[in-house]
Amino acid sequence: MDLILSKRLELFTRTCREKDLRITPQRLEIFKQLALAVDHPSAEKLHQRLLERMPTLSLDTVYRTLGTFLELGLISKVETVESQAHFEVAEMQHHHLICQKCKKIIDFEWKQVDEADLPDEIQLFGNFKRKSVVVYGTCRECME
Ligand SMILES: [Zn+2]
Ligand SMILES: [Zn+2]
Repeated sequence: MDLILSKRLELFTRTCREKDLRITPQRLEIFKQLALAVDHPSAEKLHQRLLERMPTLSLDTVYRTLGTFLELGLISKVETVESQAHFEVAEMQHHHLICQKCKKIIDFEWKQVDEADLPDEIQLFGNFKRKSVVVYGTCRECME
């Protein structure tokens, strides 16, 4: 197993134990499939992939499980303009670049944004957890 995956699984196990969430084979498989994905899949896409190994798994279970993982901060949702949410395993701060034609989502880092202060007018809002930027455009392949 590669290092990134085993690290992610370790964090998963630790978080579940801390938050008192039982690690069922189903939950583990769903998390693992998402941890392996590099394309920020939607719940539907993830479900399709999981069906190969778990033919009786329902889409509803995938939705519910992803909801639980979100609450625990194990995964995060990528904001897109589509109605379908896209998911990824929560990790270090990064931002997203989305091709509006082929819908691919690419991670990128943007230190200046991460370190920049928020505008004065929103300082009074309360507490801030994270900043995330989504950049939309057309990728090179789609431009051809
Ligand atoms: Zn594209
Ligand atoms: Zn990402």
